[in-house]
Amino acid sequence: MTALAPVPDFAPAPVGAATLAVIGGGQLARMMAQAAVGLGVPIRLLAEGPDVAAAQVVPRTVVGDYRDLDTLRAVAQGCAAVTFDHEHVPTEHLRALAREGHPCHPGPDALVHAQDKGVMRARLDELDVPSPRHRLVASPADVGDFAASVDGFPVVLKTTRGGYDGKGVWVAHSEPACVAAFEAAAAAGVGILAEERVDFRRELAALVARSPSGQVAAYPVVESVQVDGICSEVTAPAPDLDPSLAVAAQRIAMQVAAALEVTGILAVELFETRDGRVLVNELAMRPHNTGHWSIDGAVTGQFENHLRAVLDLPLGAPDPRARWTVMVNILGGDHGELSQDLYAGYPHVFARDPRLKVHLYGKSVVPGRKVGHVTAYGEDLADVRARARHAAGWFRGDLGEESE
Ligand code: ADP
Repeated sequence: MTALAPVPDFAPAPVGAATLAVIGGGQLARMMAQAAVGLGVPIRLLAEGPDVAAAQVVPRTVVGDYRDLDTLRAVAQGCAAVTFDHEHVPTEHLRALAREGHPCHPGPDALVHAQDKGVMRARLDELDVPSPRHRLVASPADVGDFAASVDGFPVVLKTTRGGYDGKGVWVAHSEPACVAAFEAAAAAGVGILAEERVDFRRELAALVARSPSGQVAAYPVVESVQVDGICSEVTAPAPDLDPSLAVAAQRIAMQVAAALEVTGILAVELFETRDGRVLVNELAMRPHNTGHWSIDGAVTGQFENHLRAVLDLPLGAPDPRARWTVMVNILGGDHGELSQDLYAGYPHVFARDPRLKVHLYGKSVVPGRKVGHVTAYGEDLADVRARARHAAGWFRGDLGEESE
């Protein structure tokens, strides 16, 4: 693949403002752009296509391939820093950019831990950070050996690279049932990590922003609900979380951010086990779905703090604005007229709930695809949750259903 077009000669940035290069044009880049508008920081975007979510809102957009080093170089040229909407830029390209004097945040040595689950597990073990029991496996027989060393089948298999939203994750109930996972991994040229299947009480996430100078801001630990491997709902802070577990989760996030020298947002996805421990599921080094609540629900949202961090500016307070904040993703629905026309949902949801906040990503509606999210906050958790669920359901096409 080659760059589609040379980088246009953009007008110079306003005096004193550093331009930030953002690689990848999805909703995370779109919400970074929204925060950048407030800060007066110009963004130069490398987008996969002219109409993707962030390209719609960033005038300085280059359409090109993030796997092409020359395209990355052209976009980074003259920018104060380079940051990312996703974790798929090849590590060797990031190393080349960093060598050539383009600061990448996060840097390649940090990002590889979010790109490769095998590398991540090995490093977390070195740091004594608790993970599910795990092993890199090369064959179904290996998985059998691993299963015998934990509590037996089922075990969880994950491709080491390239998975997202539950893609590249299998629950295997027997050795023969592992064949499909190995075939998929071989086709993609990646390895397989086997993990014990954790009987978790719920999933949590601990987000921190960390700047190159080492300043850290830790968000309250949240509860996330995943449906079919996709984040569906987030409650901040996690209800009924033992304060010592909340501190443990935040400590893990701060420890990992410092040890791996993460810059920008680090999201640590965790399992809370039924016997009162937290285990790390995975790491993401970019603003994360479990932090979207903070745009409206915290003094400083994760996108603003990501920008402040990658530009090495002092971070903003991550404190919640209300006792409870609930974020529910709007997923493309598969029934009802409204599910094809999200704007048509506004009169109802805004009239019903003037305190609701809605974020739509400008994406076409495909069943199961994340196309937006809603956020409600307030003092009564049941009420906040019901309001957010109702609105998200309405956009999905669940008309009239009073979600509880
Ligand atoms: P992705 O890279 O697609 O986000 P994850 O590793 O987060 O993949 O896995 C997706 C979901 O699968 C998790 O949110 C969790 O619900 C489930 N899962 C992953 N690993 C385990 C495990 N070891 N035990 C139990 N469930 C797991």
